[in-house]
Amino acid sequence: MRYDEFLGQVQHRAGLGSHAERATHATLETLAERLAGGEAHDLAAQLPPELARSLEAPDAGIGAKLTLNEFFELVSEREGVDLEDSTLHARVVIGVEARIDVRTNTRITALDGDSTLTSVRVTTGGVDAVLPCAALFSFIGADPATGWLSGCVALDEHGFVLTDRSLGEEHLAGRWEALGRRPLPFETSYPGLFAAGDVRAGSTKRVAAAVGEGSAAVRSVHEYLAFTH
Ligand SMILES: Cc1cc2nc3c(=O)[nH]c(=O)nc-3n(C[C@H](O)[C@H](O)[C@H](O)COP(=O)(O)OP(=O)(O)OC[C@H]3O[C@@H](n4cnc5c(N)ncnc54)[C@H](O)[C@@H]3O)c2cc1C
Repeated sequence: MRYDEFLGQVQHRAGLGSHAERATHATLETLAERLAGGEAHDLAAQLPPELARSLEAPDAGIGAKLTLNEFFELVSEREGVDLEDSTLHARVVIGVEARIDVRTNTRITALDGDSTLTSVRVTTGGVDAVLPCAALFSFIGADPATGWLSGCVALDEHGFVLTDRSLGEEHLAGRWEALGRRPLPFETSYPGLFAAGDVRAGSTKRVAAAVGEGSAAVRSVHEYLAFTH
């Protein structure tokens, strides 16, 4: 599809005038942030150059973990309209990009095939559908299992463990004042307790990054053990 055709579809489906261009770029830039590196690049390769540019923005391909609400809030900020409008516009833009079919409130109920996958069965509000496909990427397991740490170390609003520079003054009262030092890299709000990898707030959520953080944290552990405490 050409750029003007794409915008025409967005204008028509969302009842937008010239604002369609802004809504389209806001949605694609946010989508690019949500996709991981290769995915943003692959999608960009299939789009007209004017749209592909939005998928090559500085934040593209960082694989940001956004809930649907956070996604629409970011589109709203970029587009400069309220959340209700941005939600409608983003859904239309994604709908026009025919290669993406967003199914909300949908549950996978079965996988069909023998040696390879041939289709996926889904149910949306009690209505079943069979989607022929050869591959499934399951993005589950991204929620931190840190309930047991709550009350012991400071967590962010999503349950990820705050460390070093993410810790605010409110987390560093009491025992930190007595220690007379700031947290070491990867140290949590509990002195001598370190967090690395996915569970750490602000980490990159990639294997290589987690391994690197683990080894870097060991340096802090040595430093901690060298303190007199
Ligand atoms: C679906 C999916 C696809 C991904 N694809 C990629 C990819 O293609 N490339 C890439 O680089 N990264 C990918 N990642 C991210 C990558 O898996 C993580 O960044 C990496 O595994 C983080 O390593 P980690 O050691 O920090 O955490 P984890 O690998 O999650 O290890 C934490 C371990 O701690 C255990 N654990 C949890 N709670 C407790 C407890 N209370 N007591 C004892 N043990 C506990 C868990 O069972 C787990 O074994 C993907 C992640 C997901 C979920």
